[in-house]
Amino acid sequence: MPSFQSVFLATLIVAFGLKLWLLLRQMRHVWSHRDAPPDAFLGIIPIEEHRKAAAYTLAKARLGLVHLALEAGLLLFFTLGGGLQWLHDILAVRLDNPLLAGAALLLGLGLISAAAELPLGAYGQFRVEARFGFNRQTPAGFVADLAKQALLGLALGGPLLLLVLWLMGVMGTAWWLWVWGVWMGFNLLILAVYPTFIAPLFNKFTPLADQGLRERIERLLARAGFKSSGVFVMDGSRRSSHGNAYFTGLGKNKRIVFYDTLLSQLTPEQIEAVLAHELGHFKHRHIVKRIGLMFVLSLVMLALLAALKDAGWFYQGLGVASQTNALALALFFLTLPVFLFPLSPLMSLYSRKHEFEADAFAAALTHPGHLVSALVRLYRDNAATLTPDPVYSLFYDSHPKAVERIGKLESYTQVSQPLQPIQA
Ligand SMILES: [Zn+2]
Repeated sequence: MPSFQSVFLATLIVAFGLKLWLLLRQMRHVWSHRDAPPDAFLGIIPIEEHRKAAAYTLAKARLGLVHLALEAGLLLFFTLGGGLQWLHDILAVRLDNPLLAGAALLLGLGLISAAAELPLGAYGQFRVEARFGFNRQTPAGFVADLAKQALLGLALGGPLLLLVLWLMGVMGTAWWLWVWGVWMGFNLLILAVYPTFIAPLFNKFTPLADQGLRERIERLLARAGFKSSGVFVMDGSRRSSHGNAYFTGLGKNKRIVFYDTLLSQLTPEQIEAVLAHELGHFKHRHIVKRIGLMFVLSLVMLALLAALKDAGWFYQGLGVASQTNALALALFFLTLPVFLFPLSPLMSLYSRKHEFEADAFAAALTHPGHLVSALVRLYRDNAATLTPDPVYSLFYDSHPKAVERIGKLESYTQVSQPLQPIQA
């Protein structure tokens, strides 16, 4: 039987080899199509904009190559390189409470990883995004965001980790069911408080002021039977000129959020179409399905962790000599993504299916043409590539390729009965 260490190393080589191959494919494909937008976009997206999207995609992909090397380096450092054992030894000497030492180990792991990725994040924001005219963030704002994220991580993550580690220690063999319950509760709590307590730490939210647009939106919401606690505008322009829209929260606490950048990019009809797409996600219960899936998957993961937690080969194979609950959690969540990466096309496929469903809903509720023109505008303004590599796209794209998405929307306009915007 091969040792677990060689299985881990082989999987690591396959997963990172695959990631590298995909990224290089994407770069080659985008580069070779930089002068050739898809036929459907000829004359719609100016060639300079198409070239800009290619250059932007390539610049981000080059950063992705560095990130890949960093990711592999960190993983090897913490596991076989002895990084986790080193961190464990330092903390075990200084903190005599094993719960505190365990939580500190996991927070320390997060902190070291974040610090290692910081230069790349800053380079991406202040060089790459800035070069293409997307950056609106100041260095002071960047640092303030980091500080807030770190404090929030500590305030939410600290107590959660202490509780999880405590349950792992005292609940016997059924600990993983208790942890699962806590994890579900924590996620639901975050979802519920995100719009009112967490998001406002980072952005300003103001009720949509434009009277005409608000009435239009309220008519659309009534037509879709959607109850929310309001339509808000977020000052996304503080950080970036990329535009977006989303809805957030649970139950009556649901909010629709438009980035101010999106509102300035689109016409009222287009904004309505984008909102209708978001409502499509709601009507098809995509968020509930995702949460349900996440709960099932986390139960499976925890059952697996329960089986590994007391297996000496699991620790030794990953370069750790001591066995503690915190080390088990650290090793598990560090290495799990490596084993799961080959499955990512499944998640992406699931997500793209939802996007098609939301588009179909928007096409029926408003007019397909409005969503098409909104998407074209957003592809252009965000310099999103129209020519991704098909295999790369299979793995990574949560949204269908531009050509497929627009093609599908246009097919809705060709049904015998021309679609009309539904009257309230
Ligand atoms: Zn969507």
